[in-house]
Amino acid sequence: MIKISLLFSVFGLPISFANAHDFNQNSYQENGYGQSLPEMSHGGGLIDNQQSLMIGEWALRQLNNAAPMLTDYWLQASMEQIVWQLNAVARADAPLGLVIINDKQINAFAVPAGLIGLNVGLIDKARSMDEMASVIAHEIAHVSQRHYQHRNDEKTKHLLTQVGGILAGVAAAKSGGGDAAAVAIMGAQTLSANQAASFSRSQEREADRVGMQIMAKAGYDVNAMPTFFATLDQQNPVKPNAFIPSFVLSHPLTAERLSEARDRARNYNNTTNTNGDNSLYRKQLFEQIQWRSRYLAKLTNKVELTQSAKYSDGAKLALASLLIDERQYTEANKILQYFANDINNLNNPLAVVISAKLNESQGNLDNAKAKLTQLTNLFPERRDAKLYLVDLYLNDNKYLLNSAKSAVQLLQPLSKQNPRDVIVWQKLQQASEILAKNAQGDDKKLQQINVLRYRANAEFWQNRLENAITSLNQAKTIANSLSSNKAILATINNQIEQIQIANQLKVS
Ligand SMILES: [Zn+2]
Repeated sequence: MIKISLLFSVFGLPISFANAHDFNQNSYQENGYGQSLPEMSHGGGLIDNQQSLMIGEWALRQLNNAAPMLTDYWLQASMEQIVWQLNAVARADAPLGLVIINDKQINAFAVPAGLIGLNVGLIDKARSMDEMASVIAHEIAHVSQRHYQHRNDEKTKHLLTQVGGILAGVAAAKSGGGDAAAVAIMGAQTLSANQAASFSRSQEREADRVGMQIMAKAGYDVNAMPTFFATLDQQNPVKPNAFIPSFVLSHPLTAERLSEARDRARNYNNTTNTNGDNSLYRKQLFEQIQWRSRYLAKLTNKVELTQSAKYSDGAKLALASLLIDERQYTEANKILQYFANDINNLNNPLAVVISAKLNESQGNLDNAKAKLTQLTNLFPERRDAKLYLVDLYLNDNKYLLNSAKSAVQLLQPLSKQNPRDVIVWQKLQQASEILAKNAQGDDKKLQQINVLRYRANAEFWQNRLENAITSLNQAKTIANSLSSNKAILATINNQIEQIQIANQLKVS
């Protein structure tokens, strides 16, 4: 039997799992320490989908709570597009999510159920879209080949220690340099975290092989994998203070692996069909992603951006954003003139977004709204365009009530598409606060209940479970004063129950 708390205690993070994996049965046992411990796998022999989803969601909540994230709407949407496409050629299931972590170390990781994490260091150091894709494809291969999910005790243990290692690192990164005690504790654990997080040699070979298949199917240049891995091997020395197990340490790059990857890539060369238009599009998109990431993570400065803007459109756009931050609107406008056609034709979403930002900064909200509305209509599937528009509505003091209604209309479908989206819940809360202020009687109470329910959802996905329950209890109090409240109370009670179930699975 696998005792999860024992496995996590390697990192000083005992976890009690209780019966969270099985809502109907009390299948856990009491141990001598008064903790409730479940069996990790039962019956069929694999950790089932329900369990891996729970582990993935648990990890997402921890990351939302503790990891330094880049949450830029455009960057998130662009990276999701790339990761989702690579995932789609490998797995039938949609990924649980993508988190972009503001950490300079080159790293990527995957958690069961397909939660993918990428460090901004990976985006910064990759020399092409293909190189960046090679690491993502390798991570997706670990998920698609279920390297976490075999019954074998060693491997189950491996799954949990890896997730634990990632999160121990995240917790240490959050505490930063200021909290010496926490850093010292985590530092002492780094070596074992690195060791525990590594996959087996055969799993690495399989992830390389399958990762390359994924790249080829998605139309990337497979040669980028051996090239980038060789660079990583040379440039990513063992850093004793690196908290999250580095990619190189958690995926040991042996000479054998590199030469195998080179041989394999050579065999692909005859069949790889490079589409000229597609590769030009990817080159341009990669430049935008890379320079925007550097700008957001403050890995670049005005001097470097000004220099690079001479030859890179991606750097031009990052420079325009920096100039808007510095209120140098005339200079920013000069740069955006270069993209005037793309902005008018909506060919370049990032340029449109930055141009709308310039309009907004100069007080021209109507122009900004018009541009973002056009972008939303042209790309109805894009979360980023909608959220930029929502921000405009919520900042618009002129038509507060109507703007809040428009924001809710944009947000509600997004919350249904992805109920784990903290930002969407926070914006819904904000919009409902405006609606509540302007309402009367029962309608006011209903809006207040909405505010509290949306707040509870945001709190839940940030792992502030006690706060979420408090918010819902406040919502219940208001609901009790309504005359017709049965359905509302049932919904709120159901929500509380779900949180309590999730709360059984916690690091203590
Ligand atoms: Zn690996």
